[in-house]
Amino acid sequence: MGLPRFTCPRRGDGESSPHLFVANCGPAVGLSYDTIASVFGAYGEVKGVYAADDSGTRVIVSYCDNISAQAAMKALNGHPCSNLGGRSLHIQYSVQSLGKVNTTDSVPVSTSASDLDIPGLYLMHDFVTAKEEEELLAAVDSRPWQHLAKRRVQHYGYEFRYDVNEYPPGVGLSPHIDTHSAFNGLIFSLSLAGPCIMEFRKYTTGVWFAKPTSSSDEENLISENKSNFLRKAIYLPPRSMLLLSGEARYAWHHYIPHHKVDKVKDSLIRRGPRRVSFTLRKVLEGPCKCEFPEYCDSQR
Ligand SMILES: [Zn+2]
Repeated sequence: MGLPRFTCPRRGDGESSPHLFVANCGPAVGLSYDTIASVFGAYGEVKGVYAADDSGTRVIVSYCDNISAQAAMKALNGHPCSNLGGRSLHIQYSVQSLGKVNTTDSVPVSTSASDLDIPGLYLMHDFVTAKEEEELLAAVDSRPWQHLAKRRVQHYGYEFRYDVNEYPPGVGLSPHIDTHSAFNGLIFSLSLAGPCIMEFRKYTTGVWFAKPTSSSDEENLISENKSNFLRKAIYLPPRSMLLLSGEARYAWHHYIPHHKVDKVKDSLIRRGPRRVSFTLRKVLEGPCKCEFPEYCDSQR
């Protein structure tokens, strides 16, 4: 079954829609989604404000009806807006079209770690600024990438390992638990450039040890009996820092589904041209002493 998503601005004249494509507007120019929703809310009920792409400067404002969208278009398009610090917005009507999102195998996606209720999982939004993000991306792009089958990677450090991975759209990460015997209890992952979702599984019956990942793992897992694991998902926006510790790090498999579009709450979010993750781990000296021996390659 298809779900609506927003596509390129509608070219042509006269036709309206309840959805506005708004340029020169978004978190990258200092306007939060809440601020945008409140400014546009003056013209009618706003159903949602979504990123139009991964630029941070273009959003979709979605109203319940065309009349509100027309009123906002008339009032805000091309005029400096005092509620937005004098900024002039460029607005076009946006179309809704059918996207290819597989809904038969989806799990609700949370936007905060506390909703997920996985002990030891933390997500900090806006951990770095847009400027720091730009500098970090420029720094890694100035160094050589190692090409893997579907992604590119750079490795740094010894005692502390820093891995930088670049994922093109539609490329994810197969389910795994980071090997207990190799790294200590904290795994940090900074997401830059494009957004994605991360899913988590905890096997409740039987034992499922961490093993080397392969491209077929996700398919194998999906075809397994779904009643033997808990499954949860979280949205990782650009510039957010994820921390896996405790149970989240030791007992839950994590992976990134191979999607080009993720459904988050009521909106569909397109993966950007690239997502770059910085993963920081500390190399473990001696055996793992975690409290999750059934998931532990050190204590088996
Ligand atoms: Zn362990």
